[in-house]
Amino acid sequence: MPEKRMPERRCVGCMQSFPKASLIRITCGEQGLVIGDQKAPGRGVYICPRPECARLADKKNAIARGLKRPVSREEMDRLIRMIEETVPEGGSHGGQADAR
Ligand SMILES: [Zn+2]
Repeated sequence: MPEKRMPERRCVGCMQSFPKASLIRITCGEQGLVIGDQKAPGRGVYICPRPECARLADKKNAIARGLKRPVSREEMDRLIRMIEETVPEGGSHGGQADAR
């Protein structure tokens, strides 16, 4: 049976696919990285709202590669910080639900 599928995008950190709506879109604007703007024009990459993924992407230089432009140290740090602030404390996804 045909199902209505959510468009999926791949996280540049963990390289896994997730529904687009659960990822953060990153594009490059004139002032640097535009984070979380789903409608920003131009080339974009997606990342999970998880600090681990931001660090992974940083290590692999995946954002610069995905956007085809260099990303400065400050921009990466800003991105990582923003994601850390976005994530509720102790929050994670994809792991086992370890209820108490
Ligand atoms: Zn990820």
